[in-house]
Amino acid sequence: MQRILIVGGGIIGMLHAWEARKRGFDVIHLESDLEPRSATVRNLGMIWVTGRATGPEIELVLRARSMWEEITQEAPGVGFRATGALTVLYTDAEVETVRQAIERDAGVHGYQLLDPVDARNINPILQGDFAKALYCPKDAVIEPQAVLPALRDVLAGDHYQWHPGVTAVEFGSAWVRGQDGTVYTGDQVIFCVGSSQVGASARLLAGMPLQRVRLQMLQTEPLDFRISTLLSDSLSLHYYPVYDVPARERIPARPELVGKFGIKLMVAQRADGSLTIGDTHLYDEPFDFASTEQCYEFILDRFTKLTGRPAPAVRRRWSGTYAQRTDGELFLRREIEENVLLATGIGGRGMGTAPAVAEDTFNLICGTPELRSA
Ligand SMILES: Cc1cc2nc3c(=O)[nH]c(=O)nc-3n(C[C@H](O)[C@H](O)[C@H](O)COP(=O)(O)OP(=O)(O)OC[C@H]3O[C@@H](n4cnc5c(N)ncnc54)[C@H](O)[C@@H]3O)c2cc1C
Repeated sequence: MQRILIVGGGIIGMLHAWEARKRGFDVIHLESDLEPRSATVRNLGMIWVTGRATGPEIELVLRARSMWEEITQEAPGVGFRATGALTVLYTDAEVETVRQAIERDAGVHGYQLLDPVDARNINPILQGDFAKALYCPKDAVIEPQAVLPALRDVLAGDHYQWHPGVTAVEFGSAWVRGQDGTVYTGDQVIFCVGSSQVGASARLLAGMPLQRVRLQMLQTEPLDFRISTLLSDSLSLHYYPVYDVPARERIPARPELVGKFGIKLMVAQRADGSLTIGDTHLYDEPFDFASTEQCYEFILDRFTKLTGRPAPAVRRRWSGTYAQRTDGELFLRREIEENVLLATGIGGRGMGTAPAVAEDTFNLICGTPELRSA
C-alpha cells in the first residue's frame, strides 16, 4: 500500500493524515470547505481529562495527550499547554459526589479536592464563594483555530496533497469523485466527515449508530491576565459518567433551562488571552437555526459566580455540531466496502483524542491483530 486518500479536513481527518505520513504513506486530502469550518474550529480545544470515565475512555485521552505534547514540538502552532483543570463545587452534595468519585478512581486522574484557598493559589481568578474545587493536573489545551493549518504546514510537500473546496460526492473501492467530476484514487480511502450531510456524507452516515449534538459557544475579548487552568463548575457533575456515584442522587435537579439545553460551564483561555466559554447540548433534530440568548446569559452568570467578576465583553458567538455514538462506544470505525473506511463519531472529545484515534486506525489498517472494526 502506498497512498491514503482522506476525505474531511477536520481534526480526525487531519490526524489521520499526520499518522499516515508518519508511517511513510503518501496522502491525498480532500476537504469540502475552502478552510475547515466545522466542529474542529468551533470547540474549546480542551484535552479534557477531568470528566473522562476510568477505562478505555481515559486511556485514549491520556495516550492522545502525550502524543499532542510531541506533535506540538514539530508544529508549535498547535499550542499545546499542560494547564490542569479546576472544577468548582458549591454544595455539600456536590462535594460528597466528588469525594466518592475520587475514592472510586484510585489515582487514575490524579484528582485532588482542594479548599478555596488552595484552589486560588493554583488559579487566582476563582474569587467567587465556593465550598471546594476538584483539581485534575492532567488536563491540557490546544488552539482549535490554529491547529489545522499548523499541521498542514508541517506536512506540505510532495507526499501530502491538500485539496480544499472538493466535496466527495461519489466513491467506490479506492476512489472518490469530487463535485466537479475529478476522480481521486488511493489504496485506502478514509472518510473522516464528522457530522456532515454534504455530498456522499449523508449516505455514508445514514443508518449508522450515530446522533448529532448541537452546542452553543462564545468568545470574549482578551482578559488582561493569563489564567493558569481550564475551568468548570458543578454543573458538569450532571454530565460526565465519572461522577455517576451514589451521592449524585442527592444533588437537586437542574434548573429547567439547564436541563432543557444541557448547559454546563467550561472555560478555556486562548493564546491571545480571550476566553472561550461554553456550552449547551441539544440532541433533537431538526436543530433550531438560531442560538438561544438565555443560555448565553446563564453561562455568563455562572462565570461571574465562579470568578466574582463579569466576563470580558463578548466578541463573537457561534454554534457547532458533532457526531457521537448512540450505543456508548467511543468511536465509529467501519469498513464501508473494500478499501473504504468510515471514521467518525468521537463525540465531544475529538480534540482530546484525535492522535490516538488515528493511531488505532492505522494499527487496524496495517494489521495489528488486537484492534477490530467497532
Ligand atoms: C462547540 C463545541 C465544543 C467542543 N469542545 C471540545 C473540546 O473542548 N475538546 C474536545 O476534545 N472536543 C470538543 N468538541 C468536539 C470536537 O470538536 C469534535 O469531536 C471534533 O472536532 C470532530 O472532528 P471531525 O474531524 O470528526 O469532524 P469535523 O470537525 O466536523 O470535520 C469534518 C470535516 O469533513 C468535511 N467533509 C464532510 N463531508 C465531506 C465530503 N463529502 N467531502 C469533503 N469534505 C467533507 C467537513 O467540511 C469538515 O471540515 C467540541 C465540539 C463543539 C461543537
